[in-house]
Amino acid sequence: MATGELTGCLALTEPDAGSEATNIQTTARRDGEDYVLNGMKRYITNAPVADVFTVIARTEEGSRGHAGLTAFLVERGPGLRTGAQYKKMGQAGSPVSDVFFENCRVPATNVIGEKEGVGFQTVMKVLNKQRLHLAALCTGPAIRMLDLAVTHTTQRAQFSQSVANFQLVQAMIADCRTEIFAARSMILEAARARDHGEDVALTASMCKYFASEMCGRVADRCVQMFGGAGYIADFSPIERYYRDVRLFRLYEGTSQIHQLNIAKLTLREHEKATVQ
Ligand SMILES: Cc1cc2nc3c(=O)[nH]c(=O)nc-3n(C[C@H](O)[C@H](O)[C@H](O)COP(=O)(O)OP(=O)(O)OC[C@H]3O[C@@H](n4cnc5c(N)ncnc54)[C@H](O)[C@@H]3O)c2cc1C
Repeated sequence: MATGELTGCLALTEPDAGSEATNIQTTARRDGEDYVLNGMKRYITNAPVADVFTVIARTEEGSRGHAGLTAFLVERGPGLRTGAQYKKMGQAGSPVSDVFFENCRVPATNVIGEKEGVGFQTVMKVLNKQRLHLAALCTGPAIRMLDLAVTHTTQRAQFSQSVANFQLVQAMIADCRTEIFAARSMILEAARARDHGEDVALTASMCKYFASEMCGRVADRCVQMFGGAGYIADFSPIERYYRDVRLFRLYEGTSQIHQLNIAKLTLREHEKATVQ
């Protein structure tokens, strides 16, 4: 995967397991030296082109929540089928589809961490890094959109002057620039803390929440700064960005799930401080 010869994907979400990610129905039944997987996954990025699938399935019959979940590395082969690529709002370069498991046989040696029942904890281990990564991924397009908008406003003339001269347009430039700086600063600080081995569960969640919402606000202002051209694909790339970045607030935990997480961790800290 590191050399680009294999494409991977993470297959966690299911029709009834979205924000409630532990409500997984896909099963993996032990059969000798193998597990046999049955069920389906939804909204899986890269699934149509993936060679390897990290799949979270229920190994303990009748278990609920995160107990009894196991993470598997599943190679594309018999018993694994991917659906047709969805038609999406944006991100046309990123194929996404359903994944189906029909008596899909996986060697027991493919259990990630070699241990049954800790699949959700396995996913959680990479979660903070992933959230910081996603927050950075929100900041890049925001920088690009602002660059494009600033160029446009300095070149576009109305009322015999460049529209960048108008202070109401300058307010939009200032708000974008400030919010991008805020997101970037937050991400760098949280990433440094993680590199020093600190617990970044709270700060990584704040970064993902703020940066994805920030990117949405920047996209909206940049469409505004382009005027009509911001809405027309023939005249600017900004409408594509506007659609592409909408996803950031939905996956890797919706904004609402991050708000809940940030509040939960803050209240927990407060409770700890008052007990001591
Ligand atoms: C293009 C795309 C790519 C994706 N890629 C992947 C992938 O590679 N792998 C993967 O496993 N998944 C992937 N996902 C799934 C994604 O992570 C989920 O869509 C996301 O977690 C939200 O789940 P849901 O769609 O079921 O929404 P729901 O959970 O049904 O949420 C609907 C609404 O209810 C709100 N809500 C839900 N619960 C609460 C609550 N307790 N309190 C307050 N509000 C709540 C949500 O915030 C949202 O506004 C992808 C999704 C998309 C659209």
